[in-house]
Amino acid sequence: MPPQGVALLGSTGSIGTTALRVLSRHRERFAVRAMTAHGNAALLREQVAAWKPDFVALVEGDGDAPASWRRGANALLEAARLPNVDVVLNAIVGAAGLDATLAALEAGKRVALANKESLVVGGALVDAAARRGGGRVVPVDSEHSAILQCLGGRSAADVRRLVITASGGPFREWPAERVRAASVRDALNHPTWSMGRKITVDSATLANKALEVIEAHFLFGVGYDQIDVVVHPQSIVHSMVEFRDGSVLAQLGVPSMELPILYALSHPERLEDAGIPVFDALAAARLTFEPVRHDTFPCLQLGVSAGRAGGAAPAVFNGANEQAVALFLEGRVAFGAIADGISAALDRHAGLAGGDLEALWHADAVARRTVRETLGC
Ligand code: NDP
Ligand code: MG
Repeated sequence: MPPQGVALLGSTGSIGTTALRVLSRHRERFAVRAMTAHGNAALLREQVAAWKPDFVALVEGDGDAPASWRRGANALLEAARLPNVDVVLNAIVGAAGLDATLAALEAGKRVALANKESLVVGGALVDAAARRGGGRVVPVDSEHSAILQCLGGRSAADVRRLVITASGGPFREWPAERVRAASVRDALNHPTWSMGRKITVDSATLANKALEVIEAHFLFGVGYDQIDVVVHPQSIVHSMVEFRDGSVLAQLGVPSMELPILYALSHPERLEDAGIPVFDALAAARLTFEPVRHDTFPCLQLGVSAGRAGGAAPAVFNGANEQAVALFLEGRVAFGAIADGISAALDRHAGLAGGDLEALWHADAVARRTVRETLGC
């Protein structure tokens, strides 16, 4: 069998580089045909030299990129539609990944989706694009990979409840006032996962869990009343599914994205891979669970309420979060201001209708503007 063609969008990021490590062990099965980055031309150049993809795109950044490289955001759509690509691994961060997800699904591709923001901003459009084009989304996010594996092909009708686990982030045990004043360095010091900066901050605020609840809602067709979040500091149990007879299945593994990435590429098959970190129950020893401290981490409930509201509210939540996190990472606002900004944007715009892409990008833009105004930036 010839290798399957892979387009790796966001090859220079945390998921992108981890994916290349996984793909390097499966060269007979997968061939990297396209690679894209945003501005990191130096790393992209190295990756291109090692992998020799046919198609390379650098969305922005310096002018000295090779003439053969495509430029601009439209190149992401081109990469997602290439005829010699079967699987699009979308590892772009933020709402900027949505258009490529839609393009890939419309072209009938399998989308191995790390870019959860695609589903949060445009869940209904993603579903519609998959139906129209015959594409299919397979999650890379570890919690959703766990749920997919626990479901084992059973439908939402058999599910009583999904239980998404959360590490609790670096501030799990901090008092609320200390959390509000946490520094960028503190927020980037995640206890169990090594990830890009934006999602690491999202893990510290728990906005990431809100994104994941909305992601699960769209991926698995399960109502918000049937999705719970529980804090599990060891990040070994990646999530659980409770079936209607009360049986609960969980998927376990060490906190590494290599297995979820591999499974998103191979699903429903399982591939042999000696490079995947091995789980040792005795080394893990103790697995503990505790409730979320919602008063200290309001972003989770803000996001879930946006999910329930539907329409453009999840796009408002996401846009507000992206803007507030960017301001925090630039050192312009306090950690606690992230929730304040999101809350102000949802107060003002949660009622916006969803509908088409234009409506969603409008919601995204007004949410970002409201955050900047509210936070004085
Ligand atoms: P990173 O910030 O490490 O990487 C992001 C990648 O996207 C880089 O290749 C970057 O290019 C590119 N990129 C950034 N902005 C744009 C843009 N506007 N247009 C096109 N490309 C862009 O992020 P992560 O790898 O951590 O996360 C990627 C996605 O995966 C996110 O949605 C995250 O929520 C999700 N995810 C990540 C996990 C992890 O372990 N990291 C776990 C589960 C989900 P450049 O390097 O040139 O800037
Ligand atoms: Mg996750």
